[in-house]
Amino acid sequence: MTVKTRFAPSPTGYLHIGGVRTALFSWAFARKHKGEFLLRIEDTDLVRSTAESVNIILDGMDWVGLNYDNAGNVVYQTRRFDRYKEVIAELLEKGAAYYCYCSKEELEAMREKAEKEGTATYDRRWRPEAGKTLPPVPEGIEPVVRFKTPTEGVTRWHDLVKGEISIPNEALDDLIIARADGTPTYNFCVVVDDFDMGVTHVIRGDDHVNNTPKQINILQAMGAKLPEYAHLPMILNEQGKKISKRSGDTVAITDFGAMGILPEAMLNYLARLGWAHGDDEFFTMEQFIQWFDLKDVSPSPSRMDLKKLYWINAEHIKAMPSEKLAELIAPRLAVRGINDTAKPALEEVLALVKDRAQDLNALADECLYFYEKQTPAEADVQKHWDDEASARMLRFADKLEALTEWSADAIHELFKSFCDEEGIKMGKLGMPLRLAVCGTAKTPSVDAVLALIGKEEVLRRVRA
Ligand code: GLU
Repeated sequence: MTVKTRFAPSPTGYLHIGGVRTALFSWAFARKHKGEFLLRIEDTDLVRSTAESVNIILDGMDWVGLNYDNAGNVVYQTRRFDRYKEVIAELLEKGAAYYCYCSKEELEAMREKAEKEGTATYDRRWRPEAGKTLPPVPEGIEPVVRFKTPTEGVTRWHDLVKGEISIPNEALDDLIIARADGTPTYNFCVVVDDFDMGVTHVIRGDDHVNNTPKQINILQAMGAKLPEYAHLPMILNEQGKKISKRSGDTVAITDFGAMGILPEAMLNYLARLGWAHGDDEFFTMEQFIQWFDLKDVSPSPSRMDLKKLYWINAEHIKAMPSEKLAELIAPRLAVRGINDTAKPALEEVLALVKDRAQDLNALADECLYFYEKQTPAEADVQKHWDDEASARMLRFADKLEALTEWSADAIHELFKSFCDEEGIKMGKLGMPLRLAVCGTAKTPSVDAVLALIGKEEVLRRVRA
């Protein structure tokens, strides 16, 4: 059997971080088992679904790098209405579904009664049964189609995350599978899609646990082999509440991109939300695929921890080859007004500073002074600059000018001998020098920084 999993987002505005975690686990499971990972767009809610949000989802999947195997043939529910109608007709034909002509008022009365008695809402008035006479078909009412849910026994499945789950069938309604206008309902579409796509493992958020018994019963009526189910617990925010845009949480995957999070760090972080492999925190997706098993997914919710996300991001930034990092930083420098990053070469700058930032925006800021002297903070000037420092800086500039070899080592040697000559500690020269050249006191080793900025530019800045 080829393992087939799917990710089935509803395109209602943005790609939710919880959705990405679900997609990640489905993807890893498929990849681990050399199976297929499929994408399906659940766009039957015509009011809330827009083409723009579909693109946001596709772009988001692209950005994180979760590749799906039906890229040329993504399943859109809105393109499958004929197929849903066909299955509805089959179920009617088999007697597994039936028309129901109840009016709004009748349904309302049933709901009230059921609430009082704690039973299933619909009283199965139109359900055909041996020896039962159905009410006369009323005029002017377009019927809905209801599914004939078994009334006895229990529906159970062994959830690959949550364990044994069972629900007595008497607690389930004869759910509507087609509305009066003929359009199919949510749970029904999901069932037909999972069946047609040959999904073997339904991995999704645990907000769908209540839908599963309904879906299992329909699949059984269709004579389908049941898939395995794995329901993933929610992601909570740092306060332990359900993560949501409304509470001010960052939830859209693109917002994390804008925060300067690397896609590989995002996935690494999300992998650890509800899953663990010993104490491993920093890993690649190759390792994750190798290690991943649904039985290691925790059944209880996990909490966002932005500090940890930034820490993992910093590790991925450090591990990334500088040439690749340069491609991500160059556009961020352009936004900051630096368009020419050839001198010094951005890769070399990054090799020196990439362990100093936790996100790509901070890293871009860290590169700025290599290209343009920054305006020093008043407090730094107060602390490190005075007439003495100024005069000393000019003396040091003359020595720098006389250097025949412009390298970090040569600058370092000169720096040391100059401090000896002047009878000062190295910091007494280093800090004002940083301010004079970079405009900030926070830089890596000053000799390496000067070496990269280049002799001519350094002299120009120091003398200015
Ligand atoms: N469209 C559903 C959602 O976005 C997922 C349905 C499913 O995975 O079965 O929550």
